[in-house]
Amino acid sequence: MALPTDSHRSEASGASSVALTVRQAVTDGLLGEDRPLAGFVDVQGVRDSVAGLREAFARVPDVLHTFAAKACALVPVLRLLADAGTGCEVASAGELRLALDAGFDPAHIVLDSPAKTRREIREALALGVALNADSLDELDRIDALRPEGCASVLGVRVNPQVGGGSIGAMSTATATSKFGVALRDAGARARLVEAFARRPWLTRLHAHVGSQGCPLPLIAEGLAAVHRLAEEIDAHVGHRRVTSLDLGGGLPVNFADDTVTPTYAQYVAALTAAEPALLDGRYQVVTEFGRSLVAKNGFTAALVEYVKDAGGRRVAVTHAGGQVATRTVLMPDAWPLRVSAFGPDGTPKRTPVVRQDVAGPLCFAGDVVAHDRPLPELAEGDLVVLHDTGGYYFSAHWSYNSLPRPAVYGYLLDGERVAFATVRSAQTVREISEESGLARADALLTGFAGRCGS
Ligand SMILES: *Cc1c(COP(=O)(O)O)cnc(C)c1O
Repeated sequence: MALPTDSHRSEASGASSVALTVRQAVTDGLLGEDRPLAGFVDVQGVRDSVAGLREAFARVPDVLHTFAAKACALVPVLRLLADAGTGCEVASAGELRLALDAGFDPAHIVLDSPAKTRREIREALALGVALNADSLDELDRIDALRPEGCASVLGVRVNPQVGGGSIGAMSTATATSKFGVALRDAGARARLVEAFARRPWLTRLHAHVGSQGCPLPLIAEGLAAVHRLAEEIDAHVGHRRVTSLDLGGGLPVNFADDTVTPTYAQYVAALTAAEPALLDGRYQVVTEFGRSLVAKNGFTAALVEYVKDAGGRRVAVTHAGGQVATRTVLMPDAWPLRVSAFGPDGTPKRTPVVRQDVAGPLCFAGDVVAHDRPLPELAEGDLVVLHDTGGYYFSAHWSYNSLPRPAVYGYLLDGERVAFATVRSAQTVREISEESGLARADALLTGFAGRCGS
């Protein structure tokens, strides 16, 4: 099969680089009995994905690609993306802190969030971070808080209400979505046009139609509607008021095999087909891709602690479960993951294939990352790899059962050699206790002293 030009990887290189990396990680002691779970980031893969994105938009005159921080909220990964030339999309005070610590220029940071506090708005405006208001009420707050000479680019998020994709929870442009100003609601267009007419500093329209499960034509239809609104605002104001369109992220990722599909080139083609003027340079363009830049550039490896049989089902109990693959265990049909089997030495397993469940360590019956999956028969001490987990997996930890956040390593291939750099150490049980109130251990015994007059 001919690979699309912006897919800088082949099926063979994806699979063999994971195998080389697992083997080297075992040799280097990063995986094993005392280190039963880790995440791995393909550093060159991330750079190649950014290069593919740039290449696809090469004909768009003025474009700022930002990385959606929530897809991999780790400072060294964000710094890698900054070094590769992206900006950063953030959606909370915590993500803004990470983006600043990673070294992004505030002018290349975009703050989106449906619940910005006055304090967060004030801080973003002081820094010159771009901000997209999620509602007209938020615009009123900005009116009150905006300092003289504010450097922030200011926009408003609209919901084009074009409908959802195959995963309800990933569809941000349904009729009743909580995000943005609902564009098709009665009177909304007029209110938006008026909001721009009254505020000379309001220059950007933003939309994020949806993510995994949303087909490209649906995303394109939503963004074409945003373009039409920009033209209507400009016509009403009588000059070019809207200077940039922030198109959001949401390119779906193929979790079925190593092929990158759809590609950024297909995304650009879909947008151009829906609205030929959308990317012609009259508006500066901002993108906010998350999953598509990192998902296929990361994997999770976990030790098989035990195997057992239950009711005729083989179950491998591993250390990767809902704490790192939360969506997969809670919504297994929407978020299936490929799993590969490796022996204790990190070489691919060649045992006969049997159907088995790959379960996690949580005390929760749904904690199964792959159900009834045909895989080489797993045994105690083996390793499993959960593929394509570079986005939203090891950086969106669920602290159920007080399981530690796993170590994350970046890796670089140099021929047959793999070098590792630690991105984040595994959390220790001491740290878990500390963030669970250790310093206030007596709070409920002595913390009320003198208040109740007992
Ligand atoms: C999550 C999010 C993104 C990134 O979405 P992906 O599907 O990871 O590309 C972009 N913009 C906004 C506003 C988001 O909430």
